[in-house]
Amino acid sequence: MDKIGFIGLGNMGRPLADRLIKNYQLYAFDLNKNNLQYFTNKGAVACSSPSEVASNVKYIFLCLPTSKIVEAVVNGDNGLTVSAKRGAYIIDMTTGEPEITRKISNSLEEKEINFIDAPVSGGPKGAHQGNIAVMVGGTESQFAEIKPIMDDISSNIFYAGKIGSGHSIKAGNNLLNLICRMATFEIISLLVKDGVDPKKAVEIIQKSSGRNYATEITLPDNILSGKMIQGFSAGLMKKDAGVATKIANLNQVEIPLGKLSQELLQNTIDEFGEDADMSNVALTFEKLSGAKIRP
Ligand code: NAD
Repeated sequence: MDKIGFIGLGNMGRPLADRLIKNYQLYAFDLNKNNLQYFTNKGAVACSSPSEVASNVKYIFLCLPTSKIVEAVVNGDNGLTVSAKRGAYIIDMTTGEPEITRKISNSLEEKEINFIDAPVSGGPKGAHQGNIAVMVGGTESQFAEIKPIMDDISSNIFYAGKIGSGHSIKAGNNLLNLICRMATFEIISLLVKDGVDPKKAVEIIQKSSGRNYATEITLPDNILSGKMIQGFSAGLMKKDAGVATKIANLNQVEIPLGKLSQELLQNTIDEFGEDADMSNVALTFEKLSGAKIRP
C-alpha cells in the first residue's frame, strides 16, 4: 500500500482523510489527540510532528485552519521542511491566503519541494460523498502528478491555474456563499413574517430563479430540519470572507455586498462567539425580523 501524510484532521480534514485511508497507509499528525486517535483506530500511523510525517512519505496533505498555521507547520520548528525530501509534494487543502501560499511555494523552490494549493468546497458532506469540489493551484505538471491521488478523494477535481489560484477562487466562492446565505435568510424571514410556511418558501424558491446553495442545502438540511449543525464555524467563515476582502483591497476593488454580509455575520459572532456553527446565523435573522424560521 502506498503511503500518504495528512495533517489537520478536524471537521473538514477528517472526511477527506477518511477517503484516503481506504487506499493508502496514512501517516497522520494533529495537535488534537481525539482527532488523531480516530485515525489510529483505523490503522493510521500517528506521528509526533510534521517533520516525522515528512520523513515517511512523499505526498503530504494539509487541512489546517489558516495559512499562518500552514506556514508554521511547513517552515517552523519540527516542520515539514526539516525532513521533506527533494521531489516531495505538500498539498494544502486549507482555505488559505493566495499571497502567503505563493510565498511558501517560492521559499521551497530551492529545496525542490512542491507546494500547491488545493482548497475544497462542498463541506464535510461533499467529502463523505466523494464529490467535493477541489480547486488546484500550481503548474500543470504538478497537477498531473497529484491528480491520481486526488481522484481517490473526489470526482470533482479542477485545475484552477498558477499557484494561489485555488485559494483565490475558494475565497471568492465563500464570500459569494455568505452573500447568498444572508440574502436568503433576509427573504425567508420576510416571507415568514408575511405568514408563509418557510419550508414551502424554500421548496418553491429552490425550483425558481432565486435558488442558491442556501435554498438547496443550508436551509433544508441544517435549519428547517431543526438540526442547527453544519460543521463549519462562524469564525472560519469570517476568516474566508476576510481573505476575499484582502484580495479586493490588493486589487483596489469595492465589494459593498461583501462588506454588508460580513457586518451581518459579525452580529452572529458577537452573540454566539467564533466557534459557533454557521447555523446560528438563522438566530440572528430571527432576532432581526421577529419571524421564527426554525421548526
Ligand atoms: P477544525 O478546527 O475543525 O480542524 C482543524 C484541525 O487542525 C484540528 O483538528 C486542529 O487540532 C488541527 N490543527 C490546528 N493547528 C494545528 C497544528 N499547528 N498542527 C497540527 N494540527 C493542527 O477546522 P475545519 O473545519 O476542519 O477547517 C479546516 C480548513 O478547511 C479551514 O481552512 C477551513 O476554512 C476549511 N474548510 C472547512 C469546511 C467545513 O465545512 N468545515 C469547508 C471547506 C473548507
